[in-house]
Amino acid sequence: SKITIAIDGFSSTGKSTVAKQIAKELGYVYVDSGAMYRAITFYAMQNGFIDNNHFNIDGLVSKLQNVRVSFKFNEALGFAEVYLGNVNIEKEIRTLEVSSFVSKVATISEVRELLVQQQQKLGQNTGVVMDGRDIGTVVFPNAELKIFMTASAETRAKRRYDELIERGDKVVYEDVLRNVQERDYMDSNRKDSPLIKADDAIEIDNSNLTLQEQFEKVLQLVKI
Ligand code: C5P
Repeated sequence: SKITIAIDGFSSTGKSTVAKQIAKELGYVYVDSGAMYRAITFYAMQNGFIDNNHFNIDGLVSKLQNVRVSFKFNEALGFAEVYLGNVNIEKEIRTLEVSSFVSKVATISEVRELLVQQQQKLGQNTGVVMDGRDIGTVVFPNAELKIFMTASAETRAKRRYDELIERGDKVVYEDVLRNVQERDYMDSNRKDSPLIKADDAIEIDNSNLTLQEQFEKVLQLVKI
């Protein structure tokens, strides 16, 4: 029967790549929970709740009930893309600018409550692979399989840098590394559901693993 698979870990550990592959292999739904935090952040930027480095948290919270974040499966890509209302914002949410604000938005308890509820719904009565920071601890504490992915900050920054360059963004490696380190710090130190490894999660350090090796490792764990 179908199970719930929670994949948590720091920024850019390659969680989503493996999660997508596993979901595809098993015919499960894949949910990128980080995309939902990014979508709210993008909404906040577009609506003037984040200006330079000033956050109007109360303003954003007062409008949260109007924010419609959803996923639509893209057949050609083989995974679901994130939408704000009717607008596909899959590309817009991956910029370094959104990355630089998202961890702050993720500290807002009203944002977390709303998204955790939506995430739990997305995983109801279906096989699901969800990746994020608090999936095994908060969203699905009873998940049958919990993975905690780690890799050195430099390895992760290099991967994220390559991705950004690949899509044509003009970034420098040092800024990407700093962003990865800042998000690690904020994600681990926020008051509300900080990023920690669940007691029953299996840790995989993928610094020296290929994507295929990671995929096989997780698939093996599913089959136990
Ligand atoms: O996974 P991704 O790097 O896209 O997530 C972006 C940010 O969203 C994280 O750095 C974290 O601050 C926040 N996040 C979270 N809880 C989740 C998923 C993401 O707080 N379950």
